Amino acid sequence: MKLLGAIEAGGTKFVCGIGKEDGTIMDRVSFPTTTPEETMGQVLEYFKGKDVEAIGIGSFGPIDPVLGSPTYGYITTTPKPHWGQYNLVGAVAEHFNVPIGFDTDVNGAALGEYTWGAAQGLDSCLYITVGTGIGAGAVVGGKLVHGLSHPEMGHIVVRRHPDDNYAGFCPYHGDCLEGLAAGPAIGGRWGKPAAELPIDHPAWEMEAHYLAHALMSYVLILSPQKIVMGGGVMKQSHLFPLIRTKLQELLQGYVQHPALNTDINNYIVSPQLGDNAGLSGAIGLAKLALVQE
Ligand code: ADP
Ligand code: ZN
Repeated sequence: MKLLGAIEAGGTKFVCGIGKEDGTIMDRVSFPTTTPEETMGQVLEYFKGKDVEAIGIGSFGPIDPVLGSPTYGYITTTPKPHWGQYNLVGAVAEHFNVPIGFDTDVNGAALGEYTWGAAQGLDSCLYITVGTGIGAGAVVGGKLVHGLSHPEMGHIVVRRHPDDNYAGFCPYHGDCLEGLAAGPAIGGRWGKPAAELPIDHPAWEMEAHYLAHALMSYVLILSPQKIVMGGGVMKQSHLFPLIRTKLQELLQGYVQHPALNTDINNYIVSPQLGDNAGLSGAIGLAKLALVQE
């Protein structure tokens, strides 16, 4: 079986690994995200002599995933120091003459869950991460969603919770979904890191309010057959039932499907691939690159 290389490029760390076409992960390592020179030096060194037939990269963004664009393969307007306008695919291509797949980390994770995880056998799914930021990727009709660039579903506008006076921390929009509901928003609003708030704290009902509003929009716009929710904040597993109930209340039965009624516990789920969702996704992107070559 062919060996595939995978890079999950995150704002905190880069996880690299080797996998097979069936999604098996054979090796994984991680390097802190510092400067492109240092981090990419370690990444490129890792793949040396590994004999991979393709490399998949799921990256933090914004990125340019549009083939043919002059900045294809770049991390573009990120506020993260050193990484703005960085040619990530170019750096890998300079050293490895193999097909390279490139997409957002969340599109990668959606592809991983679709191919090997919670959404196997379906032809659409949505993956949302609620962590330092909020991002979502989607497979629709068996294909990852792109367009002008890539979707930015973490920055949608949501209805404000009536008891919320927190301004929101998104540097672009203030109180978009990410600004109101990512991990730092919970910490900023309540004056304590999200992980330290007890499960009966009002923070969680408010968090579920925002996430359910976001899922409502995703359901209405994309109609995904499965919603996978990952990221640090979703480690609070008591959020799942709160979100499911609120989504049902918001939809008011308007979308008629068992997935949204009796079967909602199987509709909104945690990543089946667990903490490997991102790396598996990058293996999926490598596999796609091989097919498309
Ligand atoms: P990243 O988004 O940087 O890849 P994570 O998905 O781990 O990383 O998200 C980190 C964020 O998630 C932080 O804002 C942190 O407060 C929050 N977080 C991490 N673990 C937990 C937890 N157990 N409960 C609630 N929030 C958490
Ligand atoms: Zn925003």
